[in-house]
Amino acid sequence: MTKDKNLFKLIPKVDELLENETIKSLMGGMPRKIVVDSIREEIDLLRQNIRDNLHKEEEVIHRINNLPNLIKIRARKKDSFKLRRVINGTGVVIHTNIGRSLISQEVMDNVKEIAVNYSNLEYDLERGERGERYSHLKELIVEITGGEDAMVVNNNAAAVLLVLSSLAKGKEVIVSRGELIEIGGSFRIPDVMEQSGAILRAVGTTNKTHLWDFENAINEETAALMKVHTSNYRILGFTSSVTAEELYPLKKKYNLPLIEDLGSGVLVDLSRFGLEYEPTVQDSIKKGVDIVTFSGDKLLGGPQAGIIVGKKEYIDIMKKNPLTRAFRVDKFTLSALEATLKLYIDEDEAVKKIPTLRMLSMGIDELENRAKSLYNKIIENIDIDSEGCKLEIVDSYSEVGGGSLPLEKIPTKCIKISFEDKDIIALERALREYEIPIITRVYKESLFIDLRTIRDEELNIVADGLSFGFNRLKGCIR
Ligand SMILES: *Cc1c(COP(=O)(O)O)cnc(C)c1O
Repeated sequence: MTKDKNLFKLIPKVDELLENETIKSLMGGMPRKIVVDSIREEIDLLRQNIRDNLHKEEEVIHRINNLPNLIKIRARKKDSFKLRRVINGTGVVIHTNIGRSLISQEVMDNVKEIAVNYSNLEYDLERGERGERYSHLKELIVEITGGEDAMVVNNNAAAVLLVLSSLAKGKEVIVSRGELIEIGGSFRIPDVMEQSGAILRAVGTTNKTHLWDFENAINEETAALMKVHTSNYRILGFTSSVTAEELYPLKKKYNLPLIEDLGSGVLVDLSRFGLEYEPTVQDSIKKGVDIVTFSGDKLLGGPQAGIIVGKKEYIDIMKKNPLTRAFRVDKFTLSALEATLKLYIDEDEAVKKIPTLRMLSMGIDELENRAKSLYNKIIENIDIDSEGCKLEIVDSYSEVGGGSLPLEKIPTKCIKISFEDKDIIALERALREYEIPIITRVYKESLFIDLRTIRDEELNIVADGLSFGFNRLKGCIR
């Protein structure tokens, strides 16, 4: 009991801590209230721990000496945004949970210009009267894809719903059973169909659908033929599906619109970079698909959006649908999308400047150099051997993500960390709790940091994060 009393006495008073240099340096950058609250909370926690006899005496003294730092960490956490940047060490390029596609600085400059100023968002500068929100992007999308007309909504799920609701409400839409997919986050073709008011007419079987399945299902209630790109899975083996080219004569014969949900919406042929061929929007238009929908933030590499491109007669109907107002995009999206699409006028430019494409096309030499650079930064800060740690540069595979090219494994270089006697999961957690959280992958007792999804200017953050992690494992810090 006396021992505990002494420990209580060692805890500095709030006023004393407010005079501490570390604490004072915090005051400039954040509200005083946050600092004072953090001091109180940290002191309360310490008292509680002493009361509960949770730690050994030396440990408590160590924590008391380290109190200003603990307060600093707590205050920074309190003051930080809840939605904040993270470092993607997973190697999954289009990772839906951590923001899908990145926007380049150049594209962001355009967003800022539009956001901090008034703009001609819905104003026709030539005529001096009300204009159309979608007109700014129409020409660009038409030029790149070869479609007649285009519009943009909140995301691809909204695009599909709008298309079906506009063209097939109360009528039948014929889809192959093999294409009735679910995309993560509760987007299921049959459910979207139901929500739109269209009636799903599933034809064929899971593995095989033939052209005559489609033809046999056509009747006076049929409003459209639909194809869905099964972007996130593959059926292998005894399979056959009906292509858009094969459906073309059928839709002509019965005068029905052919619609296609492409999902990932790639605009350049990825096989150029040794990736599996992913159908481009241009291909679908060329094959006679009347309406194509795709995401803005998957392989296109822009902001979240759903793009609808195709025949003007159908898009005109969609523009009159009240859902269009509900799904409308804001000026941030429009300006980011325009700046991204502008890069596609020159394909090489697009690949160089759009982060998603740049990451996917990055060669192994560049990745190896980056891995070496990170390796050297790590051994500068951490005495690997004395930590009982094994640090290596290893070959591994990155993934496209975003439900695109699910089987594609892209060769990459990773930093691999394993321990003789420490818990690798604890390091993974520490990295996630770093000031700038670092998301990594644990596989078979080793931690992997994939260099493909980390930029050169982020390497120092990763190295510092690892030092933080190793210190945490030693119990120096929380
Ligand atoms: C991703 C995807 C969607 C949903 O797109 P969001 O932009 O996420 O709404 C719909 N259909 C397919 C085929 C997809 O791959």
